[in-house]
Amino acid sequence: MSYDTNNIFAKILRGEIPCFKIYEDDDTLAFMDIMPQAHGHALVIPKHPAVTLLDLPADKAAKTLQTVQKVMAAQKSELGAKGIVVMQLNGEEAGQTVPHLHFHLIPAHLSQLKRH
Ligand code: 5GP
Repeated sequence: MSYDTNNIFAKILRGEIPCFKIYEDDDTLAFMDIMPQAHGHALVIPKHPAVTLLDLPADKAAKTLQTVQKVMAAQKSELGAKGIVVMQLNGEEAGQTVPHLHFHLIPAHLSQLKRH
């Protein structure tokens, strides 16, 4: 699938639509999900125009995982998250709705997970 430069996360990266930014560096951006599945649900995206994980060069993937770790550490220290679900969907068939690679970081507690 070719990269659609008009997808919502591309617009967020260009500053065309707002987001609640929590971290940014040269290669990555982290911001709060607009429809959180739990308190503190964050998204981490690479700035590289990748649709799925397979489209991301390894060096950019390493940078993105570093940001995932930074945000996870903040969710633990700032929000008291006891557990964190990291979820990443590749392709519409997998349920991906925004065609720019993103990692979901969802603070979780065993009591909540057991309900599903
Ligand atoms: P997906 O289903 O593609 O893995 O997840 C896309 C995520 O992006 C969803 O959790 C959805 O709530 C979030 N999202 C969609 N549009 C926006 C937006 O405009 N701003 C923010 N912050 N999150 C969005």
